[in-house]
Amino acid sequence: MDPALGPPEEMAEKRDELTPMMRQYHDLCARYDDALVLFQVGDFYETFCGAAERTARLLEITLTSREDSTGEYPMSGIPIDNAESYIETLLEAGYRVAVADQVEEPGETSGVVDRAVTRVITPGTLTEDELLASDDNNFVAAVAHGNGESPAPRVGDGSRTGGTETLALALLDVSTGDFLATSSRSPDAIADEVSRFDPAEAVLGPNAPRDVLPEECMVTPFDAAAFDRERAASLLSRYYGHPDALLAEDAEIRACGALLAYAEYVRGGEHAASAGSDDEAAPVTEPADPDERSRLEYLTHLTRYDPREYLLLDAVALRSLELFEPRAVHGRDDATLVGVLDETASALGGRTLRDWLRRPLLEPDRIESRLDAVEELTGAVQTREELHDHLRDVYDLERLIGRISRERANARDLRSLRATLAVVPEIRQRLVDADCDRLQRLHDELDPLVDVREAIDEAIVENPPIEITEGDIIADGYDDGLDELRATARDGKQWIEDLEERERERTGIDSLKVGYNSVHGYYIEVTNPNLESVPDDYERRQTLKNSERFVTPELKRREDEIVGAEERADEREYDLFCEVRRDVADEVERVQALANAVATLDAVVALATAAAEYDYCRPEITDTDRRSGLEIDIEGGRHPVVERTQESFVPNDARFDDGRRLAIITGPNMSGKSTYMRQVAQIVLLAQVGSFVPAQSARITPVDRIFTRVGASDDIAGGRSTFMVEMDELATILREADERSLVLLDEVGRGTSTADGLAIARAITEHVHDEVGATTLFATHHHPLTELADDLQAAFPLHFEVEGVDDEVVFHHEIASGAATGSYGIEVATAAGVPETVVERSRELVDGTASAADTTGTARDIDEFERVHTGRDPAAAGGPSPATADGGDDPTDIAAELRALDLGHLTPVEALTELDRLKRMLEE
Ligand code: ADP
Ligand code: MG
Repeated sequence: MDPALGPPEEMAEKRDELTPMMRQYHDLCARYDDALVLFQVGDFYETFCGAAERTARLLEITLTSREDSTGEYPMSGIPIDNAESYIETLLEAGYRVAVADQVEEPGETSGVVDRAVTRVITPGTLTEDELLASDDNNFVAAVAHGNGESPAPRVGDGSRTGGTETLALALLDVSTGDFLATSSRSPDAIADEVSRFDPAEAVLGPNAPRDVLPEECMVTPFDAAAFDRERAASLLSRYYGHPDALLAEDAEIRACGALLAYAEYVRGGEHAASAGSDDEAAPVTEPADPDERSRLEYLTHLTRYDPREYLLLDAVALRSLELFEPRAVHGRDDATLVGVLDETASALGGRTLRDWLRRPLLEPDRIESRLDAVEELTGAVQTREELHDHLRDVYDLERLIGRISRERANARDLRSLRATLAVVPEIRQRLVDADCDRLQRLHDELDPLVDVREAIDEAIVENPPIEITEGDIIADGYDDGLDELRATARDGKQWIEDLEERERERTGIDSLKVGYNSVHGYYIEVTNPNLESVPDDYERRQTLKNSERFVTPELKRREDEIVGAEERADEREYDLFCEVRRDVADEVERVQALANAVATLDAVVALATAAAEYDYCRPEITDTDRRSGLEIDIEGGRHPVVERTQESFVPNDARFDDGRRLAIITGPNMSGKSTYMRQVAQIVLLAQVGSFVPAQSARITPVDRIFTRVGASDDIAGGRSTFMVEMDELATILREADERSLVLLDEVGRGTSTADGLAIARAITEHVHDEVGATTLFATHHHPLTELADDLQAAFPLHFEVEGVDDEVVFHHEIASGAATGSYGIEVATAAGVPETVVERSRELVDGTASAADTTGTARDIDEFERVHTGRDPAAAGGPSPATADGGDDPTDIAAELRALDLGHLTPVEALTELDRLKRMLEE
């Protein structure tokens, strides 16, 4: 635990002697000992002692101190008014934040004001709009182990394979109420689901493996008892009825129940821990009685899904297909699939589109249904544009209703809901004549919730303030009691307004003035020369330089009446507001259903807009017999992201079927191999999302899973690829791919530069072809591998030709059948400005071995070429500087190289490679 968390030592030692306020602080820190407690004192959130020192440094705010009878404590405070930006910094630094607000008015109590933690803010459970990306979900996860007891069996080198117990994953977006659950016997499959949803935070059940979560995911320690099956089931049943009807596995019940408990815990609120100021025996560690906790009403749906219902994309595929994050380290942020397609108008639609991309479909019927909707709107330009315009006026309904339900919404939020409901009929109208089923259904689902809208209209004024306790919220005529109070206040004010005129007449003092200040209230001001005309009932209040201020008993009485009426009106307004908010909250399910329809429509409109704007075509979805191979037939396909980032793009065909399952793609660096492979996968993926695709025409059988493996040369920028990682990922492919998989192997076998790399690449490819039967694109600039195309029955060669014109290279980016004729690497080097002597030497090396037909020899030479070409030895990243192409045969050089070897940082394969290289130096 962070030393700055928990109760400060210097306070813990003398808890009983502390002032009541500091005792409160101490107790809240003890209760929320894994969070940083922000303690409201007036307009500030304060921290004390170690926490104060830490926050002052982190937030760059002043460290002060607070002194009382028991000692002096370091203190630092952040202004409540812009606490959000500070809290964001604290979260980024890895803290959870417990916000302890004053829950009594300072005037209401004789002792110290009571404080309670009203919310615990953690990265995975954010609900503050300011802290959330609007167009993406923010998930917190729970992982639970089958029986919660025995540790997951692990196999061999620590890979996650081979679990026999069920692992469950629950995911919750606290801000929107999205709640999902799934399970698998394979920890790898759970890890894959985790990477799809990319939770910011997770709670782990007893013995649940940490390594199904990515490193950057915050793991929050949470009560192991919450994962208890009975306890979890009982909590779930309070929300969703009997959990057995909803969930398939015990592990799922554990995970979902624990996650719900966690959501209730972070919610805080009245039922949350409060440290009573004078109640010495306040239980500071006992959890609140479960039945007294109020439910999170907006969590209306828990959806169990099976990963096998969706196209499986693991973390590697998500990254290499550029779904959400640009691949290039310094790539443009929008150079992603979602960046190209996200034409959504609302946050709701943005999140839905992301979910569709995250989980492409398998079922042809579901795909076709989306495609129908997209097609219809692609053609209907005007309807589409009008829909888009209206959808822009839609507020984030899901988060609004979440806030309303959690009693965190203000009057403006209700007005925002009302404004959104007002556009629904406009949106609906555009779908009246819809042809396809999907759009017709959306039309029906777009319930404008007229009753809710009218209720808000009647109750809430048009432009309410942010504050909900200071009046000006409730409309006139809504409540008789409130109207009376307002009338009283108004009459009183009118009487005072008329007072000046009346008193001038009565006293004959023309300069007499009625005024107001916040200390003395209303007064009558008379200048010094007129003081003798002041009547007897004037009581002196204040003496100024040139005048005196007075009140009269009647003025005082009236004033008290106004103030009293206003105060009571404010209270009444607050109560009425809460009532309206509760009434709206009761409609949570209907609002969520509407949100869902709006979100779906927005996503469809976005796909149609992209399709029209970028000239995509509707893919034809074919569903062949599941046992036979995939059929992928793309004419004039383009890479959706690359074509947006450069001026012109050359379309290419791709055709796969049972007899053509393995494409061996050759061509020099930069000729377009990687782009081509990714575009095929992206087109398949987009088709399964239900989107049009960047091609002239496309026939596509849905694939179950896309595997990608990008070899070292392409991943070097990410600094990630080692031979081990590469082999690990290949092992996954070999283990899990089948004939419904699409496999991209891009320059594999490059992490090690000796013969074994190529040999392994070849063996793997053969295996994928013979045993796995997956549809595979294999790119390499190692020409010997083209032989594979001859040896394997369903393999065929493709290549990218480049033209060498006077040592200049012209790339055509055009795919053709057959193998490439030369690597053109040297031409590329020349064009890139590599010095003439180096180019010459390269030519010598290449020419000298041109006749060596065996794979090993060529591979070696290509490596040799690469050292020259890149100035970097692929075999010795981080090792000694490469031997120069000449003069490397001196044994003393070899001794020096040996000495320079950093054995601690070499993998066995790298060591072997290095040994091989040194040996060859001796042989030269
Ligand atoms: P390789 O994998 O063969 O080294 P890439 O696929 O990385 O080559 O392509 C290199 C560059 O060539 C890309 O970044 C892109 O700018 C361009 N390119 C690739 N394919 C095409 C194409 N079909 N049309 C136009 N430019 C392309
Ligand atoms: Mg490449």
